[in-house]
Amino acid sequence: MAIESINPATGKLLRSFDPLSEQAIRDKLALAAQAFAEYARVPLEHRALCMRKLASILEHETDDLAAVITLEMGKPLHAARQEVLKCATACRYYADNTARILMPEPIPTENHSYVRWDPLGVILAVMPWNFPFWQVFRFLAPALMAGNVGLLKHASNVPQCALMIESLVRRAGFPRGAFQALLVEARQVESVLSDPRIAAVTLTGSEPAGRAIAAQAGWLIKKSVLELGGSDPFIVMPSADLDLAVETAVRARLVNSGQSCIAAKRFIVADSIYDAFESRFVAGMEAMRIGDPMKDSTDIGPLATPQIVADLEAQVKIAVAAGARLLTGGERMMGDGNYFEPTVLAGVPRKSAVYREELFGPVAMLFRVRSLEEAIEIANDTPFGLAASAWTRDPAEQQRFVSELQCGAVFLNAMVASDPRLPFGGIKHSGYGRELSAAGMREFLNAKTVVISSANPARES
Ligand code: NAP
Repeated sequence: MAIESINPATGKLLRSFDPLSEQAIRDKLALAAQAFAEYARVPLEHRALCMRKLASILEHETDDLAAVITLEMGKPLHAARQEVLKCATACRYYADNTARILMPEPIPTENHSYVRWDPLGVILAVMPWNFPFWQVFRFLAPALMAGNVGLLKHASNVPQCALMIESLVRRAGFPRGAFQALLVEARQVESVLSDPRIAAVTLTGSEPAGRAIAAQAGWLIKKSVLELGGSDPFIVMPSADLDLAVETAVRARLVNSGQSCIAAKRFIVADSIYDAFESRFVAGMEAMRIGDPMKDSTDIGPLATPQIVADLEAQVKIAVAAGARLLTGGERMMGDGNYFEPTVLAGVPRKSAVYREELFGPVAMLFRVRSLEEAIEIANDTPFGLAASAWTRDPAEQQRFVSELQCGAVFLNAMVASDPRLPFGGIKHSGYGRELSAAGMREFLNAKTVVISSANPARES
């Protein structure tokens, strides 16, 4: 099947690509393996020079790159610009910090002992469309700085982004084969991953894709990192700054038109402030400007594919049939693009399947709670465990949230966001392993223990 780039705002086909043939895939694998053999010996300073050049290309060409993102997956242009600039930040972070992260770690023993960090080889990255640059850069910046090389299987609705990133990496001076886009279908990933030249795999995407990759990687005994879905709680307690909490709640739900793994999806609000929160939150959702993502005034663009609209529409219907109250929205919007109204559901019953699902679009679920314990209980009552945002000025409550919320990150009085300096990742069905920071880089490094006996030290020459 052709890999098609379709404008989600109009439904028009932009470009179409044939998936790579088996022979073309083999050629790219051979090139990647050859590139690794040479690239791992390239001095760190030279890699950092290329990484800084990559950052400056992103900064100089932000508008053009952002336009491709918006045309392919529909996020508003201003958000696409921010995404491109965030990629530059990650490049600079790893250019500046890799020497520190790769520094051998001396370990006191009776011998001379230390741990050194060696690259693993060719890493396969299977990536989603929702942040078509950022998701890729948070893999490629640490991987290339550490001396690994990358092969990218991008989501099939963003092939132009995939090819553009490949070309940016080359223009920055990285050697041929250090980073290649593989325009392949999901069903072709299995044979790529089985190739002995692939050392490890990282996947960001849905649970079913994660299961498929993890099962295969496990069988092949290859290292894997999974960044999967989330249904992050946003908890508001009575002592919170309500104005700021409501304003942030709307932004946190609608970031990337609602299509973000770390978007807040379940709003858990204390009884005494619930009614005020609900009315203001609904008003905030209704005030969003929906429309042409190319216009600077647009807050919410089209969703990336017609399937996402269909899935959301079905989930809202199922929740309402189970007894949830629909406070606003709930319908697809008429016209050519994949538009869906910002939607708020209250009191989705636990018996509804939707209670446990991720809502990957502009749909929020509100819950009223009568105690801190109930807030924590509902927050943790999900198969996912990516992140959480909790709003309270009470230090004792803050401590309870930090220690009892089951997830990879807790943000207090702030919206959850990724940052190259901080580890990012989840627990439970949100996946395993970390991206970003030193932790993310080390996922694809061999922590090699070196012991030099003090009984027989090397002869001095
Ligand atoms: P998806 O359908 O799982 O696709 C993600 C990638 O996996 C795509 O490249 C896709 O290729 C590929 N893929 C799908 N099934 C596969 C299989 N059986 N074997 C190998 N590859 C397979 O996910 P999506 O709809 O693009 O993205 C949305 C999901 O990603 C949400 O659940 C979201 O929460 C999650 N996400 C997580 C994070 C995080 O950091 N935790 C960040 C962003 C998104 P095709 O496009 O060709 O199908």
